[in-house]
Amino acid sequence: MLFGHIAVSLLQHRYLKADLAPVVAGGLLPDVLDKTMCQVLHVTPSGRMWGHTLLGLAVSSLIVDIACGPRSARAWAIGYVGHLVADTGRQVPWLYPFVDYEFKPSPGLREILRRFAEDHREIVVESGLLAWALFWTLNRTGFGRRKAEG
Ligand SMILES: [Zn+2]
Repeated sequence: MLFGHIAVSLLQHRYLKADLAPVVAGGLLPDVLDKTMCQVLHVTPSGRMWGHTLLGLAVSSLIVDIACGPRSARAWAIGYVGHLVADTGRQVPWLYPFVDYEFKPSPGLREILRRFAEDHREIVVESGLLAWALFWTLNRTGFGRRKAEG
């Protein structure tokens, strides 16, 4: 969920040298778009549709390229791909709408949060990953250097 996707983006920032803001934004957009369309606006049947596709990746990366330049678009695409790869434990409609997928109805937002809260293993894994990613990100961006200088 959210913690895991932020953690993956932070690690991409550190290890793939992707700019922080666009890599995190690109890493969150698929869920922000699709969960909003499904769980909030109720206009799509699944919380993984347009935002979880290669078409979504291409179109949004092009928009970021035009608006912010190629460096930001590269970081955005890295974050976006990281999100889709991290989601592969469940259905990701990579090639939608060019390939038909059976979209099972997604549960409501309250049900999703309830399931997450009850899955202690997922909470521990995602929180641990986020703590590790935050440590290395802060260490790289000056936390460790300031400590050494001071
Ligand atoms: Zn997702």
